[in-house]
Amino acid sequence: MSNVVLLLEASQIEKVKAHYTKFKVERSAPGVVFAAKLSDTTVTIYKSGKVMFQGNGASREASLWGTADKVTPKATSVNTKGDLLPPNFANLSVIGSDETGTGDYFGPITVAACFVREDQIELVKELGVKDSKMLTDDSMRIMAPELMATLTHSVLILKNEKYNDIQGRGSSQGKIKALMHNQALKHVLKKMVPEKPAYILIDQFAERGIYYNHIKAEKEIIKENVLFSTKAEQIHVSVAAASIIARYAFLKEMDRLSNIANTTIPKGASAKVDEIAAKIYLKHGETFLKSITKWHFANTQKAMKLANKRRS
Ligand code: MG
Repeated sequence: MSNVVLLLEASQIEKVKAHYTKFKVERSAPGVVFAAKLSDTTVTIYKSGKVMFQGNGASREASLWGTADKVTPKATSVNTKGDLLPPNFANLSVIGSDETGTGDYFGPITVAACFVREDQIELVKELGVKDSKMLTDDSMRIMAPELMATLTHSVLILKNEKYNDIQGRGSSQGKIKALMHNQALKHVLKKMVPEKPAYILIDQFAERGIYYNHIKAEKEIIKENVLFSTKAEQIHVSVAAASIIARYAFLKEMDRLSNIANTTIPKGASAKVDEIAAKIYLKHGETFLKSITKWHFANTQKAMKLANKRRS
């Protein structure tokens, strides 16, 4: 299927709309202002002024309106480690997965996986998805619900009580993450049936051999067309979208914890985190503090010291 995107002026956009008005179809996706379906081409106009032509007649229709720049994958200038990816990778139908919360003393680890079909790539970009490391928490809070409404996805939240239990019985964070990624991918694949992605891209936190060693005891191991890369959120929008969804789930959980602890729970693992942990320990006790933290972090000992000093 061919795919052409043009960026047009407002006056031109009006002409495009008028031209295809007979073929107009309703599309309620956020960011879309007009859509039309011809026998061999779908035309989608976005708020930003981008017009996408998809299907066998894409080049023909696009050539009526401008220079038909074929969508060519951006050369990835990012320095990544991991698998060699097919040349056209950014434009393929891919499930991406990513996690967050692993370095935060308070709050859960969250993992999300989501599927972006090739004809949804433009829409996902339209919703503001870029490399999520460049996005703020506030912008992700706005974008995530739209992405979740649009994309087939799965998001897993590992609460600290369970995390501390599994970790205490000897599982490394790497193993915990691998199990969660495998689980999230499994869910998305199941929801998509009978459709299949061209590839699955995991934002690499462990090399392939280590990843699969972590999950070797699982009943179902997702292995087909799985690729690994670092900085994967810059390689395919599905990973960027997954990263935003995972972050959103993490932030919502932090809101909930702040609520029950009656204080704003900080992210990260800094000295400020020790301070707040000490406060919570003195006010609500050890069991409560443990239930909302990754207990094996060095922050626990530091917070205890602070609390003891304060008590004496
Ligand atoms: Mg990551």
